[in-house]
Amino acid sequence: MSGLDVSVSHQAGRGRGWYRGDCHVHSRVSAGGDLTPEQLVVGARGAGLDFLAITEHNSAETHDVWGQHDLLVVLGQEVVTRTGHWLALGIAAGQVVDWRYGLRDDVIDRHLDEVRRAGGLCIAAHPHAPYPSGTFMYPYQGFDVVEVWNGPWRSDVPWQADNEAALAEWGRGLAADVHRGVWRPAMGNSDTHLADQIGVPHTVVLAEELSAAGVLAGIRAGRSWIAESAAVELSFTVSARNRIAGIGERLETGDEPAVANAVVRGVPSGTVGFHTERGQAHRASLPDSGSGAVEWSVSAANSAFVRVEVRHPDGRMAALGNPVILT
Ligand SMILES: [Zn+2]
Ligand SMILES: [Zn+2]
Repeated sequence: MSGLDVSVSHQAGRGRGWYRGDCHVHSRVSAGGDLTPEQLVVGARGAGLDFLAITEHNSAETHDVWGQHDLLVVLGQEVVTRTGHWLALGIAAGQVVDWRYGLRDDVIDRHLDEVRRAGGLCIAAHPHAPYPSGTFMYPYQGFDVVEVWNGPWRSDVPWQADNEAALAEWGRGLAADVHRGVWRPAMGNSDTHLADQIGVPHTVVLAEELSAAGVLAGIRAGRSWIAESAAVELSFTVSARNRIAGIGERLETGDEPAVANAVVRGVPSGTVGFHTERGQAHRASLPDSGSGAVEWSVSAANSAFVRVEVRHPDGRMAALGNPVILT
């Protein structure tokens, strides 16, 4: 890949819409990585993505190698500290965030602030990864987003991130966070190091435009859901009193009953689960075709939010939505 054009908006003009992106991607610059930037771009396109974020381990070496193509590349870093990894997304070209500390040094807030002041996002990465320094030991407080889904959803490979544990922890914290008025969205990324990993999973974001600022704003607000692949489609809304709210939005129900509606494609014989602060509150099956719509009545009196999980028959996650907040 030649050229030094890092302008991250080769697709200026693509306005408000849902965009698919993978925000945790390594090239061969990172230990264990095997891919060139060009291979990452080709892989991302093949996986149906509109954007990726390059997040090398503690390095900005590949910030300026992306050249001209129609994929949006957001600049980032995986900040690999002694007691957990975090993603800094939307940093400046060449910026390297300090990583030489652990929980007991009490300095992480300073580095989180540095990223946020520059307009970036701080994401707790693979919080339950079962290897030394990979398990996330910092409090979530101070982070904008939690990567609850990292790589393929499976629990039978001991070295892979434990997504089920990360989701359970995030789901447990959500009710208290919503009650406090500041909730932390979930996201999912592939943590690609090798061929054929990119996009599994990725985050689908409602952005005002396909730009770094646009997609980061959507992720920060939780206007996003996580897809196992581009073969999976999810739309989720809650409506009441002639109003309608989408994922990450707030719906004033005035204590009237609301209707939650999930429309899914690409998950044959899967199950759709609606989750509230009372846990999984409703479940329905999808037909063999994998396409279907599920409706369910919910009220703000019973829960301050509702979110959706779509799983394959064997329990693996296919799609996971951020909540709609009910007031
Ligand atoms: Zn990591
Ligand atoms: Zn990584």
